Amino acid sequence: MTPERDVPAIAMDSSIPDEEKRDRIIEILSRLPESGALAAVQHLMETKDGRVAEYVARYLQMIPDAREGKTRAAERLRQDEDLVHAAARLVPWLPASLLDQFVSDYAADPQPGSPLSDVVFSIAAYEPDRVRPIADRIDSKLIRRSLLSGAPDELADALLARWHDEDDWDDLEAVARIRTGHAREAIHSVRDELEDRLDWETLIALAGQLPDSGNSAGYHPSCMGFVTDAEASPHIMGGSLPGPTPICLDCREPTERVLTLAAGHLPMELSCDPSFFWYSCDCYALETVTVKINQDGHLTTFYGPQDTPNPSAHHAERVIPGTRSLTLERHPNQTGESLRAYAGWSRHQVGGLPSWITPEPHPYCPECRKAMPFLASLDSGPTPFGVMGFAGKLFGFWCDDCHISVTQQQE
Ligand SMILES: [Zn+2]
Ligand SMILES: [Zn+2]
Repeated sequence: MTPERDVPAIAMDSSIPDEEKRDRIIEILSRLPESGALAAVQHLMETKDGRVAEYVARYLQMIPDAREGKTRAAERLRQDEDLVHAAARLVPWLPASLLDQFVSDYAADPQPGSPLSDVVFSIAAYEPDRVRPIADRIDSKLIRRSLLSGAPDELADALLARWHDEDDWDDLEAVARIRTGHAREAIHSVRDELEDRLDWETLIALAGQLPDSGNSAGYHPSCMGFVTDAEASPHIMGGSLPGPTPICLDCREPTERVLTLAAGHLPMELSCDPSFFWYSCDCYALETVTVKINQDGHLTTFYGPQDTPNPSAHHAERVIPGTRSLTLERHPNQTGESLRAYAGWSRHQVGGLPSWITPEPHPYCPECRKAMPFLASLDSGPTPFGVMGFAGKLFGFWCDDCHISVTQQQE
């Protein structure tokens, strides 16, 4: 058997469950040269089967760059209405002219069952301005929700007015998700009308501003992250740091380092290299891992115990599949995506605003007591090296004054 024949055979075999197909195709493609990007593009150029196109495009979505091949593949998928849905996975890498062609193809007959629905849904998330001109003709609630990102002031005003009339939280959340200066003003204007202070903190942070300092709720710019070989990027994933590390309060298993960002290689200014940790056990004894990174590089753990891991005990790579790196690319939507996130789609992020599954207030720094800006999130689901060992998403917050990171999970 060869990769050329194995991949289609697996994708089309109705006896194999979906997740197993996904993982077997990842295993085959990830071993090929250039992380399988060229082979994946070749499959998309040749296949006549919508399932093959979908699985292969999902794989390509995990691979950074390869812009030229992804564009070529998307141009070919556009020619076939049975395959075009798979181009949705490639949207972040496609040139403006091709994205506009997809939008005008869709605008010719914008029905909910359009073969282009997935593609336009994806364009609305990554580049909402390209879909906004046809917003009035779109029925899909999800696409309209994506278009909140950077929406005009009139829409913020209309949603706020409707919230005053009908008191539906969803309308207020929608205002926050517009994330313009005008939308933030609107959220400030309702501060005294909300009974629960935490509700307002959630909304103002969602709109992009911390509730106490008024500073940005995230570091900018926003980047997409891709799990790559250890050598591919200076931002390290997996393994551990020397010295004492946070351990589980119940079973005392050491946490794993999920990510260390190399400050000198980031597009935002940070005063040291932030590290984030997560539990390798399933005790759920504490809701966060909170650590201070001291000048000598050693950690001080807050709220829970820390210990030096026994070097002779083999700690399996349970959270991150091996020692890897996170490769960053600028996110096409710098305002922030407006839809609630679904976990398990390998959508990692550094900078920007958190893409919550359920919006919540940001944590407070245990030293300076200020609300912390978001810095990074890691998604569960597949990587080219195996699946992540946690559920939902991990969210990392960073106080650059105190060098303290808070990592928390949402499912
Ligand atoms: Zn434990
Ligand atoms: Zn602080």
